[in-house]
Amino acid sequence: MENPSNNKIDKEIIEKSFRDIMEKGLGLDMNDENFKDSPKRFAKSYSEIFSGLMDSEREVHEILDKSFPTKYNGMVLEKGITVFSMCPHHFLPIRYEVSIAYIPNGRALGLSKLARIIKLMAKMPCLQEDFTERIVNEIEDHIKPLGVICVVNGAHYCMRMRGIEQKDSWTTTSSVRGVFKTKDEMELKYYNLLNNKPEL
Ligand SMILES: [Zn+2]
Repeated sequence: MENPSNNKIDKEIIEKSFRDIMEKGLGLDMNDENFKDSPKRFAKSYSEIFSGLMDSEREVHEILDKSFPTKYNGMVLEKGITVFSMCPHHFLPIRYEVSIAYIPNGRALGLSKLARIIKLMAKMPCLQEDFTERIVNEIEDHIKPLGVICVVNGAHYCMRMRGIEQKDSWTTTSSVRGVFKTKDEMELKYYNLLNNKPEL
């Protein structure tokens, strides 16, 4: 899927359409005080949840272009990054737990940068598989590390609260590049570090 990151979000259209869903689709009484301002609230939350549709690609690139020189050539691992997204098939929420590691090849990223770009990339309807790929592709393209690996666990509410109703199910995806792919011991080392829980 081409990344639709330069869209405009039209809150008025969203508000109007959601009013139709409530009133005509669901037959709700829009004079009920609880519902009266819901279309407006809905439009406001949608523009926040899908803010990645507006210019996020440029923002992601700007963040990644600010890397620092380093001589360190071990693994940099960030784990426990929680972000929220929406599935493209049902438009229901997904909670992601992301961990990512890379081995610098002369350039390193500021520590908060990884979480920031992942949060930005989550703010659009996107398949978990493509989301995972996009994370490693962006990092590979911008800082050209010796390797990068990303594991994403997704709690998909389209599976948890409807359809098959697997309330505790998780979907795991991983994308691997460079030495993590070519050297088995590097991938193993990543999983060892991932499972290592520091006492903090
Ligand atoms: Zn879904």
